[in-house]
Amino acid sequence: MHSDDVARLEPGHQREISEGLHARFAEQFGRRADGVWFAPGRANLNGEHVDFHGGRCLPMALAHGTYVAAAPREDGLLRLRTLDPGLDDGIQTVSIAAIDALVRADAGEGSAGEVPPITDVHSIVPGVTSGWTHYVAGTLWALQQLGAELPELAVRQGFGADLLISSTLPIGGGLSSSAALECSAMLAFVALATPLGEQNPGPALGAALDDALRARLAAACMRAEVEVVGAGTGGLDQTVSLRGRADHLVSLDCRNFSVEHRPTSRLLGEHTFLAIDTQQAHWLGDGQFDDRRADSEAAMRLLGADQLRDVLPESPHLGDVDAGLARFDTLTGGAEAIEGRRTSACRRRLRHALTEMLRSEQLDRILGDEKLEPGAGAQQVGHILDAGHASMRDDAQVSFPAADAIVESARAAGALGARLIGGGFGGSVLVLVPRSREDDVVQAVHRMCVEQSFTAPRFLHVEPSAAARPVG
Ligand code: ADP
Ligand code: MG
Repeated sequence: MHSDDVARLEPGHQREISEGLHARFAEQFGRRADGVWFAPGRANLNGEHVDFHGGRCLPMALAHGTYVAAAPREDGLLRLRTLDPGLDDGIQTVSIAAIDALVRADAGEGSAGEVPPITDVHSIVPGVTSGWTHYVAGTLWALQQLGAELPELAVRQGFGADLLISSTLPIGGGLSSSAALECSAMLAFVALATPLGEQNPGPALGAALDDALRARLAAACMRAEVEVVGAGTGGLDQTVSLRGRADHLVSLDCRNFSVEHRPTSRLLGEHTFLAIDTQQAHWLGDGQFDDRRADSEAAMRLLGADQLRDVLPESPHLGDVDAGLARFDTLTGGAEAIEGRRTSACRRRLRHALTEMLRSEQLDRILGDEKLEPGAGAQQVGHILDAGHASMRDDAQVSFPAADAIVESARAAGALGARLIGGGFGGSVLVLVPRSREDDVVQAVHRMCVEQSFTAPRFLHVEPSAAARPVG
């Protein structure tokens, strides 16, 4: 197998991408874009299916992400085009008033009959937009809600915009293209529609957005995905996209969304992270993801906890996980089902959540250890990655044959550890590998996938990168 067959996703050169997007925008919309804004995707070292349980997550922002070129309109319309070949269907037009009415109707604040149509002017099908436009329209809707509380972020009356979108991430690949889309659009809207944007033109906006404001914007982007798109995201993705830092992991405590930045240089030394997009569609993803969450929430209620993080002490050990499971067993009293869900499944989800939260705390201790020599923690981190994969496979039960095979193949080719990241049922594998072996791992995994007739994966070299910002 020749190495030319290997598919690598490069983050590209920011300036070139930005200039190219300006040119495409002018062609597409017949006027100049006011700017280009970028937001990164993310890879999560640990902490899957625990953000909504108050657990700790350890994500990093990628150099890969989503670019939005935009110019304002004054008619309350969004005209949107994505350049992603799989989703591009020309310009889509969304009325913001319609999105607002839709959300209100969902929340029981009006009947569905009062909802004005969300009109796609090209296909002229009232009430229908391509699903992806909801991520963008939802983001503007959420900024309007936030602006009602924070005058500096108030969206001016009648605001609308033309947007052209381009991403260097896999879409639906578990590296958070959805949050990258929301967060890049959010920065464009803040720049073009609010007093803060007006007072801080161009690159100045990056510095004007302090961490507290970025946290508010991340929460708003999460609202867009939960309330407008209807996806059960817990806020991890949006937080790292807006609050990540170059050469650092974000240590995110999901009890209060407080963030510490942990330098990766001490951990990595001569090692690096590699992400492998399995190119498996999120099969049955939606229903199954919700199902896993419902199992773990049934266990949580049985234990009388408001969130599963409370089942463990501040600095947990394995014994605390065992104690939580033992209490679960006592409380079920051998019943086959709790809340109509299989007890054995609920116990597995509980064990995943508790061990995943324990792994995050262990990793956080290693990453925060200032006495650690460069590279010294890598071996330990590799073992924790492996344990995380086993838990995703056996307890969360969200893995699939290609991911399991890729993890094994990467380990055999010299990786220190590897695991499935993202929600599961498709998505990407994160690998920790000595820099000198990175290419061996890429070649071995590619070869294995061809031999076993898995879809050829795509490889992304991971450099922990900076948060969302204006780029041109
Ligand atoms: P992930 O966030 O892991 O990539 P999701 O299923 O959460 O996967 O989000 C993928 C969805 O987000 C896509 O189906 C699409 O609706 C939207 N999306 C993401 N990136 C883009 C893009 N560049 N252009 C248009 N839509 C996008
Ligand atoms: Mg997503």
